[in-house]
Amino acid sequence: MKINLAFDIDDVIVWTGDRQTRQAFKNCGKKHYPQTTWNFAGYPQDVIDEYYRIDDTESLFRGGLCHKRIPYHLNNLIDSPKYKIIFVTGRYEHQLDGTVRQLLRHGINIKKEMIHIVGRNSKMEILKDFNPRLYFEDAPHHITECIKNGIKVVMITNNKTPWNHSLRGYVPNVAPGLISALRQNGIIK
Ligand SMILES: [Mg+2]
Repeated sequence: MKINLAFDIDDVIVWTGDRQTRQAFKNCGKKHYPQTTWNFAGYPQDVIDEYYRIDDTESLFRGGLCHKRIPYHLNNLIDSPKYKIIFVTGRYEHQLDGTVRQLLRHGINIKKEMIHIVGRNSKMEILKDFNPRLYFEDAPHHITECIKNGIKVVMITNNKTPWNHSLRGYVPNVAPGLISALRQNGIIK
């Protein structure tokens, strides 16, 4: 029996940054301010609309960052006969190829079929079906949904994820980054 592990992508594996957000503010003639909630809550609607109108997936993903040890550890897990790995992301269907290219560019040995795209929908259907030993996530609504549905979730929380700080103390399994999360749960040494 393989051990199933599931990963969110944005702000767990890669950090795409706020370049497109800044551009959207600029196009709307407004002054940019940093995001403190998940999924743009609190941003002006015209800025949000502009963000999705720009939707320059390739340049957006090209700007992404990945901690230099993450590809090494993920590849070991992907290659290991002991584990089955999937990625469950709130990105959109038309971003699938760009997502594959982005992860490959960072040196992660991703295959398209490992990526599950949900857009703005719930991740529960996929996660309940996959039944992971652990799921690594940063978005508060997905985390609370996991807890309600008995999915064992590890919350990645650090100074780049202000949107989930209110859940600290509520979520039993938390870590500041993916590598420490894997280590403290005994998946890597
Ligand atoms: Mg995320």
